[in-house]
Order: sequence, then C-alpha cells, then structure tokens
Amino acid sequence: MILDISELAKLPGARASYEVRQELSKDSGLTLIGEAAVSLHFTNTGSIILLQGSISADLELVCSRCLETFPQRVESSIREEFASSVPGVKKPTDTIEHLEPREAAYSEGKLDVTELVRQHLEMNEPLRPLCRQDCLGMCPRCGSNLNLGPCQCGAGPEESARGSSSEAFAALKELLEQKKGKQG
Ligand SMILES: [Zn+2]
Ligand SMILES: [Zn+2]
Repeated sequence: MILDISELAKLPGARASYEVRQELSKDSGLTLIGEAAVSLHFTNTGSIILLQGSISADLELVCSRCLETFPQRVESSIREEFASSVPGVKKPTDTIEHLEPREAAYSEGKLDVTELVRQHLEMNEPLRPLCRQDCLGMCPRCGSNLNLGPCQCGAGPEESARGSSSEAFAALKELLEQKKGKQG
C-alpha cells in the first residue's frame, strides 16, 4: 500500500502514527503467512521526516538442512529518515548520501509500505534457516527427511550405528554435533 504523508511532509513539527496490516505478493521473494503488522510513527523535524516503528510478520522459510518449509516470526524495528518537503528548507547536504539509498520506498510525500516491509523482512530473515536447532536433515543417499525417523536405505545415522556399542554411537553423535555447530 502507498501511504500519503505529503501534508505532514510540508508541516514542521507535524506527527502522525499509523497501524497497518500489509500483505506481500509472491514476487517479493518472501512468503508471508497472513499479513505483516506494521507500526509507523512519523515526525517532521523541519529538515527531515523521521520514521520510527516496527514490523512483525510470520514468514514461511525453507529449512537449509531438511528443505521442509516452516513458519518463523520475524521482527524488525524501523528507523529511517526522509527529506522533508517543507518550503524553503534546504535538504541537509551532509546527510544526503546517507538518505539516498534508503529512500527507494519513499518519494515526494508518499511511502511505499509494501517496499518498506519487503526491505526490512529481507534484511532480518535468517541466512541459513533451520526448522529446529537439532534438525537431522536429509539422508545423503536416499533423500529421506531423517526428522521423520531413520530411512530404509541404510545410510542414516541410526542404521550405521547398528551393531556398534551405544557408547560408540553416542561419541559419534557428539562428534557430528560439534561438526555441525562449527558449520552453522
Ligand atoms: Zn529442518
Ligand atoms: Zn537413506
């Protein structure tokens, strides 16, 4: 959605708050479950518009180990600055460079909330999502999801441990866990 704050943008000292719910389309590159809850608080300081707020959304992520999808809550706090449209007020030249890259979502008194939400969720989504910390992943041979139980092909950790003592298996498992920990 586009939020029109052009009146606020012209009026030094003006403040406004909005609580909105924002959907994202599939081509945003993110899969949102339901809508994102967005709080937006604008303050026109004269030279800039300060935007503070928060975004809370449930994303559908794909586990980097087992490739199953799972929901995860992603929270992001917002703090952005946009150039105001106060007549006669020059844009503060020393901060122009800082303002520039973050202004894609804002232009001429209009804030693209969809783009703002997309940017923030993209920044805050985990790089290597895990459905759970101890996800067992997939069997490298048959591709079975080992969280659902040992696979039938014989390459799974349960199967390879058969025949050895339980202590040896425990030691092996510990070793594997340590290795996983270092990797991820
Ligand atoms: Zn997983
Ligand atoms: Zn297998």
